Amino acid sequence: MKPFSYERVSSPAEAAAAAARAGGAKFIAGGTNLLDLMKLEIETPRHLVDVTGTGLDEITETDEGGLRIGALVSNTALASDERVKRDYAVLSRAIVAGASGQLRNKATTGGNLLQRTRCPYFYDTNQACNKRKPGSGCAAKEGVSRQLGIVGVSDACIATYPGDMAVALRVLDAVVETVKADGTTRAIPLGEFHRLWGDTPHIETVLEPGEMITAVTLAKPLGGTHIYHKVRDRRSYAFALVSVAAVLDADGKGRVAIGGIAPRPWRVEAADAALPDVKAAARALTQGASPTDQNAFKIALVERTLAGVMAKARGEAA
Ligand SMILES: Cc1cc2nc3c(=O)[nH]c(=O)nc-3n(C[C@H](O)[C@H](O)[C@H](O)COP(=O)(O)OP(=O)(O)OC[C@H]3O[C@@H](n4cnc5c(N)ncnc54)[C@H](O)[C@@H]3O)c2cc1C
Repeated sequence: MKPFSYERVSSPAEAAAAAARAGGAKFIAGGTNLLDLMKLEIETPRHLVDVTGTGLDEITETDEGGLRIGALVSNTALASDERVKRDYAVLSRAIVAGASGQLRNKATTGGNLLQRTRCPYFYDTNQACNKRKPGSGCAAKEGVSRQLGIVGVSDACIATYPGDMAVALRVLDAVVETVKADGTTRAIPLGEFHRLWGDTPHIETVLEPGEMITAVTLAKPLGGTHIYHKVRDRRSYAFALVSVAAVLDADGKGRVAIGGIAPRPWRVEAADAALPDVKAAARALTQGASPTDQNAFKIALVERTLAGVMAKARGEAA
């Protein structure tokens, strides 16, 4: 691990100021992703700003009838919140489909959104990876790509965004609140938060250097049936091959977002409009796909997983 300095701050304003003061700073929350990447020297921050004391660990009700989730709320606390379980069950279900109990106790809302891809070539520092080392190439394209992306990917990178929670947040139209290093704030719809890879896959979100996530807000409850279905190679400790977050009305109309296939939780207007027609929705979700030989199966898997979700919503599935 490369040497780094460390400081603990007690407010978002202090965190922003600390990041502005120190070049090459990174925030650390649960540390469950960042520390692993630092040990591998994939992440090499010169300064760590520990944000766990910033008081952003509460879930509060908004004036609009929704919820404001502090960036430091743990995945466990969020998934087990009674309001979340009752009104935003897709979020609760997505979170418990990820990682393990111990990890979820440490993992935070902000850190979870910013977890980095699990592409094996990103983690293997002997391999070419444009995301880890811009301009070095992409070993994944000719390599093992079963787990990797089929839509929204580029010649430079075929990695996926790996998280579960964000897929549910996408279907709920969540908004990410931030404070920048200069103290100004902004609200970013989750659909605009993660970037497509293009020629710069090392830039993964629209956050500016030193910009800190302070909260995620949810609009008032949508009602409907909330389902999260994750297809993976193992039942636990595995990232999604394909996952579906859905909020559906009794007639099967509604909205869906897909995980495991793209650089961001994948939601397509035409797919939502096509529901309950599964084939048409799946076609819209995988339109323009450029899979490898090893992950072309994901096109059919999107349709089958969506069909399973619709059957579950109708009460047909076991
Ligand atoms: C074995 C294993 C299995 C896993 N399985 C799954 C899974 O199935 N599904 C899933 O979704 N996840 C899974 N995870 C990932 C896990 O959910 C993430 O590691 C975790 O959510 C990251 O949160 P954290 O608070 O620990 O972030 P950290 O590791 O502290 O930080 C992650 C990144 O976010 C930045 N950051 C943190 N907080 C803020 C903030 N407030 N503002 C700005 N930047 C911030 C950090 O600088 C860093 O770049 C797994 C992890 C492991 C180790």
